[in-house]
Amino acid sequence: MSTVLETEEHQALRAAVAALGKRYGRDYMTTVIREGSHTHELWAEAAKLGYLGVNLPEEYGGGGGGMAELSIVLEELGAAGSPLLMMIVSPAICGTVIARFGTDEQKQKWLPGLADGTLTMAFGITEPDAGSNSHRITTTARRDGTDWLLTGRKVFVSGVDIADATLIVGRTEDARSGKLKPCLFIVPRDAEGFGRNQIDMELHAPEKQFELVLDDVRLPAEALVGDEDAGLLQLFAGLNPERIMTAAFGIGMGRFALGKAVEYARTRQVWKAPIGSHQAIAHPLATAHIDLELSRLMMQKAARLYDDGDDIGAGEAANMAKYAAGEACVKAVDQAVHTLGGNGLTREYGLASLITASRVARIAPVSREMILNYVSHQSLGLPKSY
Ligand SMILES: Cc1cc2nc3c(=O)[nH]c(=O)nc-3n(C[C@H](O)[C@H](O)[C@H](O)COP(=O)(O)OP(=O)(O)OC[C@H]3O[C@@H](n4cnc5c(N)ncnc54)[C@H](O)[C@@H]3O)c2cc1C
Repeated sequence: MSTVLETEEHQALRAAVAALGKRYGRDYMTTVIREGSHTHELWAEAAKLGYLGVNLPEEYGGGGGGMAELSIVLEELGAAGSPLLMMIVSPAICGTVIARFGTDEQKQKWLPGLADGTLTMAFGITEPDAGSNSHRITTTARRDGTDWLLTGRKVFVSGVDIADATLIVGRTEDARSGKLKPCLFIVPRDAEGFGRNQIDMELHAPEKQFELVLDDVRLPAEALVGDEDAGLLQLFAGLNPERIMTAAFGIGMGRFALGKAVEYARTRQVWKAPIGSHQAIAHPLATAHIDLELSRLMMQKAARLYDDGDDIGAGEAANMAKYAAGEACVKAVDQAVHTLGGNGLTREYGLASLITASRVARIAPVSREMILNYVSHQSLGLPKSY
């Protein structure tokens, strides 16, 4: 892998995280998934080494870096077979939003814990009746004295069971119709009226997805993150990191699958030469490698723009990076499974379950089609059909 675009610190971080990932690896993940438990050990160790809070401000215990560094961490853990999905949510979205827009009190309360891994935060925006159209979200906050009462439903929210709180995207009562005017609330896991049902997913991953029911959840005034009127800006500040990190997730998984396939193609021999010498096997693997490298380039661009404070430029690049990485991941996994023939479907080789897992990078947090829509309208100026 070429690293010319990265500083020596970045390369050292990559190598150190790769070494940590190797110590855990796919076997660890498979055991955690089989036992229905969580990645607590890896999460704690990665945090202790400063990797989970690498993007958070130094004054709150973080590493003072940005998305360039955090995406390296997730990519390398994924490439080792042990990605931490909650990194997309806890330090990347929630950590960023609180660091950029939270009150001093919120920063004190959450950032040191998010950085050292003792606190985790989930993020809930998706609603059953809104889906990709987040303008239709109806989770509503109404004032009751100085408190807020939050009511609504969310779906597919990851990790709510292990998260100390969930950052919920709602809208205020007086902004219920018209253009989305979101506001963000920190809802503690055990808040009264905050119910969750685990969704039965066909996914082999330690992180579970939940439907959430918020029934007049009473929250103090300080549960509102930042400013009620600047919600959209705050939301976008969190969504770009989310896209960059999903790209890292996809690239890591794609690299892991490709690595397994290459290893197999080098040694598996059914005619005179290893199957990797047949171009029908070699070329799709080479294409997968190229696609993963190209998506990393776009991810690096997005991270750089974001870390430099260009939210608009980062928006386009982060969408493109997430699209490219999602597609590259799906294709790499598909080709890896195929390369292993029947072994591609055995539990022993462990690649088949990635077929489903890789699709997450295409669907979430914003689907392939919604990115193509974004590029059609925003980048190319084409008219909208919806
Ligand atoms: C494993 C997993 C984890 C997740 N974690 C979280 C989380 O932590 N927090 C959270 O809030 N959400 C989470 N999500 C939800 C995720 O962000 C949504 O699934 C995603 O945004 C798509 O929404 P939807 O499922 O409602 O699909 P829909 O919006 O119903 O879309 C269905 C299909 O229609 C297509 N489509 C819709 N509109 C258009 C259009 N205008 N043009 C063309 N095609 C269109 C879509 O591309 C898609 O293929 C998670 C999802 C998964 C699978």
